Amino acid sequence: MSEERGKSPAVVLLSGGLDSATVLAEALAAGFGPFALSIAYGQRHAVEMEAARRVARSMNVRRHIELTIDLRAFGGSALTADVEVPKDRESAAMAEEIPITYVPARNTVFLSMALAWAETLGAFDLFVGVNCVDYSGYPDCRPEFLRAFEDLANLATKAGVEGTGRFRVHAPLLTMTKEQIIQRGLDLGVDYGLTHSCYDPTPEGLSCGHCDACRLRLAAFERLGMADPVAYAGS
Ligand SMILES: [Zn+2]
Repeated sequence: MSEERGKSPAVVLLSGGLDSATVLAEALAAGFGPFALSIAYGQRHAVEMEAARRVARSMNVRRHIELTIDLRAFGGSALTADVEVPKDRESAAMAEEIPITYVPARNTVFLSMALAWAETLGAFDLFVGVNCVDYSGYPDCRPEFLRAFEDLANLATKAGVEGTGRFRVHAPLLTMTKEQIIQRGLDLGVDYGLTHSCYDPTPEGLSCGHCDACRLRLAAFERLGMADPVAYAGS
């Protein structure tokens, strides 16, 4: 325990998806003592939160906070309003434009919450599972955005202004393909059977197998010659 306490604290945004589980493992591997933050913001609340809880329990997190910021009050996305989630799209179509599953300013909102908790904890390191390979169009997944947020964090906080430390945003998956992410996670001992990626799960929590998130994930496991350990509807 004393060794655990000696580790630098870091706040890790944990959605319960494949990427965020891998990022949590990266934070542990980098020697941080992670505090996991999960934000319930839309339609998939329950299924995602259960996955986040399972992942947090399976890894050595110091504390897990579940925060509700219901972005359905704003709507504007297939993940926060009654808009159909696109199905069976080819990867070329996914890359063409910013998809309807984009949630307005989500990463800014989430990183702001992570920053607020970090400053409270005396932590200066934020970990986030953004990736600019699969959806090149997401504006808040770009390295410029992450650098700008880092600058903002150092300007916006007492800890930053007083110079007790410098905030850093870690996005270790930024330029990795989904296969590389899975391979890296498996090397770090991530159990992907605990995660959830689907945008449109069944009421029982089974993944649909047809939304962009399911298709990217299934294709990556297939290319690695592995079966995806999560349960899909109709299989
Ligand atoms: Zn799905």
